[in-house]
Parts: sequence; C-alpha cells; structure tokens
Amino acid sequence: MLGSSSGYISLRLKKHHSSNGFFSLSRRSYRATSSPLLPAFSNRKTHALRTVRVYASQSDANLDGTSYSSSVAVPSAGKIYKIKFCQWCGGTTKHDIPDGEEKIRAICTLCGKIAYQNPKMVVGCLIQNDRKVLLCKRNIEPSFGLWTLPAGYLEIGESAAEGAIRETWEEAGAEVEVLSPFAQLDIPLIGQSYMIFLAKLKKPEFSPGPESSECRLFELDDIPFDSLAFSSILVTLKLYIEDLESGKIKYHYGIIHKRPGTSPSEIRAFTLDYHLQV
Ligand SMILES: [Zn+2]
Repeated sequence: MLGSSSGYISLRLKKHHSSNGFFSLSRRSYRATSSPLLPAFSNRKTHALRTVRVYASQSDANLDGTSYSSSVAVPSAGKIYKIKFCQWCGGTTKHDIPDGEEKIRAICTLCGKIAYQNPKMVVGCLIQNDRKVLLCKRNIEPSFGLWTLPAGYLEIGESAAEGAIRETWEEAGAEVEVLSPFAQLDIPLIGQSYMIFLAKLKKPEFSPGPESSECRLFELDDIPFDSLAFSSILVTLKLYIEDLESGKIKYHYGIIHKRPGTSPSEIRAFTLDYHLQV
C-alpha cells in the first residue's frame, strides 16, 4: 500500500506467462477525443521513446485535451525533498552539485556520502473477473475513501510481479495469479513509476485488509470514475475498458505529466504522453 512499509511476504508465482512472445513498439498515441473520461490526454505522436525528454511548465496540462504545450520553460526537477541529516551517520548535509554531476544533491558534511533520491516503483494488479474489476476503497490517506486498484510500493528483495501479488493480498485479501503486464505509467513529477499487471483470482474470495474499508467487484459500467484515488488508476482503467471494447488487450507505456502546482487530488490534471501500446 502506498505510504506503508510493509514487510516482505514470500509469495511465488506458480505460473507467469506473457501474452506476447514477440512484439514491436507502435507509437500510436491515445486520442483525447476518444476518451471523455480522460480529457487531458495528449495526442502528440511524433516522439520516439529513446528521445524522450521530460519538461514541465505551467502550460503542460491543457485540460481541454486538444493540445499539449511543449514549451521548454522549466526542466522537470520533480519532487525533490530537502534532506537535513545524513541517513548513515546523522551528520548535517549541505546541498551542492557533486563533482562530475549536474544536479544538486544532499551531501553529508561529515562522512561525505551523497543522498540520491530516485523514483519509486508502484506495483499492482488489475483483476479481471467476468468483465468485472476488483477495486479497493482506501482506508488511509492519501485519498482516503476513494477507490483504487490494489497497489503499493515495491519492496527490496521482491520482483514487480511478486510485489503486485503481495499488495493484492494485503489490501484485498485476494490470492491472484498474474497473467501479463498491462501498463507501465511513469509520473516524473512525483517520482513514481507504476507497473500494473493483469491478474485473475485463484479463488473467488476477497476481503478488505487494514488499509481498505471495502473491496468490490465492479461491472465496467459501474466503475466509480468520479471517486478514484489517483491519476494512474484512472488511466489504467480507461485503457483497459478501451482495450476490451477494441477486442484486444494490449500492453501500454505512458508518461503521466501531472500539472505542476495542482493537488494530488486533482486526478484529471494531467496529460498522458508517449503512449506506446503493443
Ligand atoms: Zn554522513
């Protein structure tokens, strides 16, 4: 669960197969006009993945979704926290650019170690069950009372799929089998990368864990899009429904550019860029 530091639970995948033995990247972008639920999706089409450079400015998020300003005003620094004390020796830090680097880091004034801050991976499951999906109502902040897929931070020592299975067990009391990767969604501004797997219930049983107040299977038409917890969940569910409607479940990659300065609760204040699907 996001915000938790739950311990590692050893859950092994008995079966793990990919739906795609071989694939090539298409660079079709998501079209904003086809998605009333995701009005801020970008329809830029011209960037190859290898040339991705992320910039953010106040004009990045165009809420009408018809265009995306790529004005290179402020390189996206993301959410960098000031670190006052060294995590290894407790010494005070100074913020400076280390030799040979380009970014300001927290450097310990006693032992000299550098506190690098890197993105976190969030892993979770999109559980399919007779054209229904399993959602959990959050019983903790942030986004208390809003619905999400079972997902949380990957722990050291586990694979992404293992983490997704563990989080699903912790939050939804559900034992699942991972079927395939479904979406990787990067959110550079807040330093998170989501990896969502398609999964199925091993047994038709689930119940809310301590971090959920309720778990429920939703018909696709009943998904509470106005009460979702995070932009990443909105994107994931919308892509899934569109895949079902098109008759082919794909694997998606995309970058969620949150509009700087907006609240995390404004889950529609973003654009989805570099949407690749195979
Ligand atoms: Zn130190």
